[in-house]
Amino acid sequence: MENKLQELKTRLLEYSDLSFVGAVLGWDQSTYMPPAGAEARARQSSLVGKLAFERLVDPAVGHLLDDLRPYEESLPYDHDDAALIRNARRSYERYVKVPVNLVGELLEHTALTYSKWAEARPANDWARMEPLLEKTLDLSRRYAECFPGYDHIADPLIDMADYGMKAQDVRRVFAELREGLVPLVKAITSQAPTDDSFIYSQYPQAAQLAFGEKIIKQYGYDFQRGRQDLTHHPFMTKFAWGDVRITTRVREDDVRDALFSTLHEAGHALYEMGINPAYEGTSLDGGTSAGVHESQSRLWENIVGRSREFWDHYYPDLQAAFPDQLRGVTVDQFHRAINKVTPSLIRVDADEVTYNLHVMIRFDIELALLEGSLAIKDLPEMWNSRYASDLGVTAPDHRDGVLQDVHWYGGLIGGAFQGYTLGNLLSAQFYSKALEAHPQIPSEIGQGKFDTLHAWLKANIYQHGSKFTAPELVQRVTGGSLQVQPLLNYLRTKYGALYTL
Ligand code: ZN
Repeated sequence: MENKLQELKTRLLEYSDLSFVGAVLGWDQSTYMPPAGAEARARQSSLVGKLAFERLVDPAVGHLLDDLRPYEESLPYDHDDAALIRNARRSYERYVKVPVNLVGELLEHTALTYSKWAEARPANDWARMEPLLEKTLDLSRRYAECFPGYDHIADPLIDMADYGMKAQDVRRVFAELREGLVPLVKAITSQAPTDDSFIYSQYPQAAQLAFGEKIIKQYGYDFQRGRQDLTHHPFMTKFAWGDVRITTRVREDDVRDALFSTLHEAGHALYEMGINPAYEGTSLDGGTSAGVHESQSRLWENIVGRSREFWDHYYPDLQAAFPDQLRGVTVDQFHRAINKVTPSLIRVDADEVTYNLHVMIRFDIELALLEGSLAIKDLPEMWNSRYASDLGVTAPDHRDGVLQDVHWYGGLIGGAFQGYTLGNLLSAQFYSKALEAHPQIPSEIGQGKFDTLHAWLKANIYQHGSKFTAPELVQRVTGGSLQVQPLLNYLRTKYGALYTL
């Protein structure tokens, strides 16, 4: 058994290494690669992805998993080896259903589409993306159809990102959340608008980056094991336990953009950096789901990074870094400005209250595209009509409309967005549990101290990697299942005070 397990681990490590090689190619493509490298890079990414995939679904892995079943069944459910074998079996059984040529075609197409999008978005060129997106939709459907027996064609794609969730589960949760959010947005936006004009002064890039990096160091982001670079659409990526990178983008006319994206991506990175190093290269490595991952980025970005305690501590530093831009602006004004609630066009810039409405639009559109009730050619029109009806705003161009998010232009259509809202819900659930255990956390944040919170997250969530599924982890940490009320309570309390509702 010992030998069989070792052989499985060796194979998983090769798969993991090849996947991380693919991630290096992707990181380079999104940061430093010159545009003319796009075609060769798409081919290379596809090749490496196929090699990784072939390792994962090698029949020898299936035989090993069969041989290891008695050993797995002899162990307690939460034994590391049992979880490792269980997870390896889950991904083997899933991906063995997908033809390797489809994987290769998909990887090549999405790498190429990403490069075109990086040019087409600034150029507001929807027409250029339309045929590429037609093919992405076709590939996404073919991918989903590898898993017959679904209730909704999006289910297999949702399940890959947020294991255990189906379209109908997400719809139910979203409907409950929407019911709480819509009146809250209405109550807030009926009040006099907050003055946030100073947010849009000129803030030089270097000072913005330095400020964000100083904070994430204090969060616990380890620059010996990571670095931050510039990109179009910020992301976190990982090549090893010792190499967990983040990216950001800077707008010199908006002091929020780089700062909050840095705090966000650092939250993702803290999760990956906190995983038990013994899990490296195994099926226990990596965050357990898109939703749980996003719960960590949103927790550090919003619950911590947009709190009053946080700014009581950091605002004097920010003011010292930008004395002209913030002259005469009080911490109270600044805190209100970065928490201004206003229906807007861009998801990643949205405030915490309206943010989930952006996600719901995308989720519904993904389902409609996959179902075939919406055609790609009608996508911009549907996008605009949903923004008009749900948020009361209309994008002046495709750049800030249907071209704004990288997801459909760098991956599949389906399963790409629900994790954001699931993450917001979980962030509030997890944080309230951390506060129950350590009521002093907010006052520590007010002193720029994050150790207690970070240690609690590491002990309860990070160290486990993928050992537990998201529903199992939520059960262990909160004693229950995914809930809508904790986020609504958090928002009502925070914005009730800010807007005196
Ligand atoms: Zn994120």
